[in-house]
Amino acid sequence: MGALLVQKEGWIMQLVGKVALITGANSGIGFATAQLFAQQGAKVAMLGHSPADIEAAATQVQQWGEVIPLVADVTNAEAMQAAIGQVMEKWNRLDIVFANAGINGVWAPVDKLELQDWNQTINVNLTGTFLTVKYAIPHLKQQGGSIIVNSSVNGTRMFSNTGATAYACSKAAQVAFTKMVALELAKCHVRINVICPGAIATGLITATHKYDLEGVGLRVDYPEGAIPLSDGQLGTAEQVAQLVLFLASEASSHITGTEIWIDGGQSLIQG
Ligand code: NAD
Repeated sequence: MGALLVQKEGWIMQLVGKVALITGANSGIGFATAQLFAQQGAKVAMLGHSPADIEAAATQVQQWGEVIPLVADVTNAEAMQAAIGQVMEKWNRLDIVFANAGINGVWAPVDKLELQDWNQTINVNLTGTFLTVKYAIPHLKQQGGSIIVNSSVNGTRMFSNTGATAYACSKAAQVAFTKMVALELAKCHVRINVICPGAIATGLITATHKYDLEGVGLRVDYPEGAIPLSDGQLGTAEQVAQLVLFLASEASSHITGTEIWIDGGQSLIQG
């Protein structure tokens, strides 16, 4: 990728000269990462599926650097191709991709989970990741780059959130996807890694649709005190953004095909 480190007010900026695409950038982890990337000198393409939300988020991040809002649903191949085309039109390069957009979807006993709800979760979390990476790769290959996929502890080290079957399967598949693609891309100097957050304080948790789970499994909510490193406090989007920055930057230049859990030890005791 080639490192260009620039000092600003005594701080080293790690992403100067880089162009980054972040999906699901209007809120939570994606928004915190867009802000951090802009502060680190990157030009940031912020993608979301609601025009009003992504434009408002991009306006906030603009105070830190150059930003464009992109409107696309990550499950729509044509829209994703067009959105990435807009990045190339604007900046003529792409170095970093954070495939972050995701939903918790519907959590329900497996015999009550509707096919359309299963498909929706797999489509957004897995097919959305595939389309994001697929259309970005030709541009990343031009000079090398870094892809970061946002998975979860669910489906990778935790299997106790009964009802979250579709979600956990989509998240497990993102890890397999990352490892498959890592070998394919290594010769083009494109790295790809996957992060697995535990419970992070964003809107995602409250947006979960749960039904018929009473008495079905062991656990559907995070019990108090279950995050050892923070005395039960949820992680923050800003903490996750720091990990994404590490994986996007030259600091991780020899790392590819790797998953990293960021959960305060939660999945070690709740697996
Ligand atoms: P969030 O709800 O704030 O972010 C999800 C983002 O994805 C939103 O901006 C939303 O608009 C966008 N999105 C959803 N469907 C989309 C679609 N079809 N097309 C385009 N954009 C779409 O929550 P978050 O916690 O920041 O979630 C980000 C990622 O982190 C998700 O992939 C999630 O699975 C993962 N994650 C979150 C947690 C947590 O506890 N918050 C834990 C593990 C993993």
